[in-house]
Amino acid sequence: MSQKRNTPAPKVKPNSQNLKWRVMAYLIGGWLMAAGPTLVTPALAQSQSNQQMSYSELLAQIEARKVKRVIIDPDKQVAKVQLADANQYENVVLLERNPELLQKIREVNTTNSREQIQLEFQSSGDYKGAVGLVANLLLIGFLIGGLVMLLRRSSQVGNQAMNFGKSRARFSMEAKTGVMFDDVAGIEEAKEELQEVVTFLKKPERFTALGAKIPKGVLLVGAPGTGKTLLAKAIAGEAGVPFFSISGSEFVEMFVGVGASRVRDLFKKAKENAPCIIFIDEIDAVGRQRGAGIGGGNDEREQTLNQLLTEMDGFEGNSGIIIVAATNRPDVLDMALLRPGRFDRQVVVDLPTYNGRLGILRVHARNKKLSDEVSLEAIARRTPGFSGADLANMLNEAAILTARRRKDAITQSEVEDAIDRVSIGLSLNPLLDSKKKRLIAYHEVGHALLMTVLKNSDPLNKVTIIPRSGGIGGFAQQIPNEDMVDSGLRTRAWIVDLITIALGGRAAEQEVFGDAEVTMGASSDLQMVSKLAREMVTRFGMSELGPLALEIPNNEVFLGRDWMPRSEYSEDVATKIDRHVRTIALECYEKARQIIRENRPLLDRLVDLLLERETVDGEEFRQIVSQYVALPEKHLVK
Ligand code: ADP
Ligand code: ZN
Repeated sequence: MSQKRNTPAPKVKPNSQNLKWRVMAYLIGGWLMAAGPTLVTPALAQSQSNQQMSYSELLAQIEARKVKRVIIDPDKQVAKVQLADANQYENVVLLERNPELLQKIREVNTTNSREQIQLEFQSSGDYKGAVGLVANLLLIGFLIGGLVMLLRRSSQVGNQAMNFGKSRARFSMEAKTGVMFDDVAGIEEAKEELQEVVTFLKKPERFTALGAKIPKGVLLVGAPGTGKTLLAKAIAGEAGVPFFSISGSEFVEMFVGVGASRVRDLFKKAKENAPCIIFIDEIDAVGRQRGAGIGGGNDEREQTLNQLLTEMDGFEGNSGIIIVAATNRPDVLDMALLRPGRFDRQVVVDLPTYNGRLGILRVHARNKKLSDEVSLEAIARRTPGFSGADLANMLNEAAILTARRRKDAITQSEVEDAIDRVSIGLSLNPLLDSKKKRLIAYHEVGHALLMTVLKNSDPLNKVTIIPRSGGIGGFAQQIPNEDMVDSGLRTRAWIVDLITIALGGRAAEQEVFGDAEVTMGASSDLQMVSKLAREMVTRFGMSELGPLALEIPNNEVFLGRDWMPRSEYSEDVATKIDRHVRTIALECYEKARQIIRENRPLLDRLVDLLLERETVDGEEFRQIVSQYVALPEKHLVK
């Protein structure tokens, strides 16, 4: 320690200031260097090679009548002097003003008529001055340019405010979407219903001849990413008509009247291009029931909606315009929109089932190189709950990963990683060994162990402690049971096991590290537990309170028309609900802790393996567990 103090510290600090200056000098110098060569004049280059004479010597030479010629450069304050007996010029550095010089020359010239001194003034054009001038001009140019741009932009904003919403950029038009029904997979019922719309557009005579009115509006109802936009484009593509699209949120602007004028613009353009499709995404943004919601109505939205209704009523059913709108909240739409003659057809676009997912995967695998080992069937089985957009996104991620890993074709491992990336998040670097890492490992193995030993659980796919974006330290993942997810048929035993599994992480923390060391890492597990347990009691009739639906799901206060929370039960029942929810959670927790306590050596061994490998797949995990306890039949290692 003391030795170190005696050695002189390397002089870094004092130099750093210098360095800063040097860097600045480099920059300035560099800039000049670039501009320099074009501005160097030949005169300057020449004079530099000449000899020097001092000012006083020059005066002396003049007095001695030895000077033949003096060329003064007022810009640079130098003179080139040619002596009587020399051919060469010599340089003389002048003063700022040189009255003696001029006076002396004049004296010589007036008194001596034979040896006149030729006096000339020749400006070389100052190199530095010129560079400075150019720099200044550039700077002024930039400033003026910037100012003009600012002015222009602010005047554009002004214009926007003036001719409300005249801007064409707000809706887009595609003359040919290039999308066909073949590109849309997995939502066969919806496709069939919309097939008819294509016929309306292509052969309207067929219907009008019989006196049938062609519908004006079709409402597509479904979760985000289920392919509603794609379907609308496919209608346009199949019918070969232009596709106008706008999002409901584009209508709703700051200024009252903008939305309405956009609607007018849109319909005007559409009429000019009929037959065509107008697609309005997120129609609930404008079409929400008028006068609903907290805080009173929204003038702007209501005006926009009224304009939309007016436009829809204004054109004849046979004008060849069909409006397709999309929403995932049909329940909040204003009744006026759903009246006959408006959006009188509703088509539900569901999340795809197994077959649907398989179809969608086939569509998006068309232009991708998959290795033979990859089975689309297996992927479809692994991805219940994925929308079409999720699946498309996942395959794309897999292709990107494949390129990054410099492989020729997408393999199973890229698919696995892409599924995790889409459904969980980006994987980050593994943690360094630490207490935190051990704790996470125990938590995740707690979940994974319960997934493996509980009778009604879906089998473990893998457990990992590689962190993911979004603050996820690790996870244990099940292979979802497609029948249950797709059909929504979940048994009481399955839900109870799921609650137990969710509590397995916290249970392991508590068993291993004690009460004081449990972490907040279980917070999302606990939310899930509360939700499931409460739903068992209040929605599914799975408790001793009996087969009653006590709550209606989803009272989103700000969205729907039913914004008053409605309770279907008395205070007394509310207390009972709380008690039953708590009982379920506590019983499951007790069970989780007991299983973990009884299998402590197994738990420790699995944690050691996970710490070493960071990811353990379900098959190997089950293999190890089966050496300690009998696996339930459905998890038996084959
Ligand atoms: P939505 O409008 O319902 O939110 P999109 O139509 O915008 O969903 O879907 C986004 C993307 O997801 C589509 O461009 C397409 O690539 C893919 N996709 C979604 N559903 C399907 C489907 N049924 N078949 C094929 N691709 C689909
Ligand atoms: Zn957890």
